[in-house]
Amino acid sequence: MCLLADRGEFGVRPDVAIFADTGWEPQRVYDTVEWLRSEVSFPIITTSNGRSLREDVLNGVNAQGQPWVTIPVFLAERNGDPAGINWRQCTKNYKLAPIQAEVRRLLGVRPRKLLSSDTNVEMWLGISTDEVMRAKPNREWWIKHRFPLIDDLPMSRQECQEWFEENYPGRTLERSACVGCPFRSTTSWLSVRESDPDLFEEAVQMDAGLRSPDHNASKMFRKQAFLHHRRVPLAEAIQADLEEEENHFMNECEGHCAL
Ligand code: SF4
Repeated sequence: MCLLADRGEFGVRPDVAIFADTGWEPQRVYDTVEWLRSEVSFPIITTSNGRSLREDVLNGVNAQGQPWVTIPVFLAERNGDPAGINWRQCTKNYKLAPIQAEVRRLLGVRPRKLLSSDTNVEMWLGISTDEVMRAKPNREWWIKHRFPLIDDLPMSRQECQEWFEENYPGRTLERSACVGCPFRSTTSWLSVRESDPDLFEEAVQMDAGLRSPDHNASKMFRKQAFLHHRRVPLAEAIQADLEEEENHFMNECEGHCAL
């Protein structure tokens, strides 16, 4: 969306793009942001709430430094039975709030100061047509969302990828997500494991740490917390995903069913 916007594909060009850094992205995401900065004509501002989500999860505290776990970890009873998922607060505190604070700063409005009634900010979100359910209005009356990849130039994630490959051959585009995000798909976990084993090991250690009796996750949930929906240690879960995928492939009946 950023690259298309700079080419004028959505009419006016944005004044600014904002990247909210949770402090827990893979290095490749930071490299992608740097590269984008060199490609587009408008400024790309990096903002944050001044904390590191990585450190906060490690220490079992929230964005205010109080004992809490803000990421949507999967929970299990001591006997292994699934016991729901933690309420996700990380997006609001480490992404949405810093972006909103940055917009207020750009408008010249100090924190907690009232905005004038004619304040009107159009915020573009790069949600593609296959994730249309994520396209929602902003809760703030002064921010109006616009979804260029749905309403202006409808494109699916695959079409975005194809457009990028065609226009920037040989370059890969990294998808932003925290290293230990429990919402990572199997493919995404595998990609971390293959491309950056140290980072994957860090996530494995973080996952194990959540179940240490000293971690606030153990105290606040009184259940076991996991980064993977299988609710088993991360390395084990990814291995199981991989084996399941291989078995699924071997069980396919020579591809004729699809003809
Ligand atoms: S990527 Fe995952 S862990 Fe990071 S802020 Fe979003 S939901 Fe939370």
